[in-house]
Amino acid sequence: MKRIGIICLLLCLAACSKTISAVNVNMYNADGDMIGTAALSEVKDAVKIKLKVEGIDTGFHGIHIHELPKCKGPAFKSAGNHLNPEDKQHGLMNDKGSHLGDLPNVKADDKGMINAELTVPKATLKEGKTSLLQNDGTSLVITKGIDDGRSQPSGKSGKRIACGVIQEEKQRTNDKGSPTDPTESLDEQDTEK
Ligand SMILES: [Zn+2]
Repeated sequence: MKRIGIICLLLCLAACSKTISAVNVNMYNADGDMIGTAALSEVKDAVKIKLKVEGIDTGFHGIHIHELPKCKGPAFKSAGNHLNPEDKQHGLMNDKGSHLGDLPNVKADDKGMINAELTVPKATLKEGKTSLLQNDGTSLVITKGIDDGRSQPSGKSGKRIACGVIQEEKQRTNDKGSPTDPTESLDEQDTEK
């Protein structure tokens, strides 16, 4: 019984809630293999990212949110530039920065695992200029090198080695009103003329 209750609650959360407060992202390497996940959640005035990926060279790597929801390997150029809705310069250590999509470097351990929790200040999963779901979404990209926090346009962080699309999971409900009767609307248009 308890299980049924939980399932009903989950179904309702999926179908009833219009406000998105969490998005799960699958991360892929240049070969197209899934190497982990990023769980995004809305918190006060920010979005939190819980990143878990493997198969990354040991050491520090740059990580950024990019402007387009496209992860076409192996170069991931399809993701576009760093997300920058406020027309700032690149770099968390830049006085004229930073891009909304700029994040602190992450560290892969000696087993090649990154297990990091990041915060994107001012970002949201709701509507608006700083939304990570704006237009059709954005993407999360890990780079081979370290972001120096200053150099334009992207901190000399090197080539892109992993990418994941940040996009609203399309869960369409069929109960959103009934379709309009084409005959009826045609009649309406006729009477307006
Ligand atoms: Zn940047």
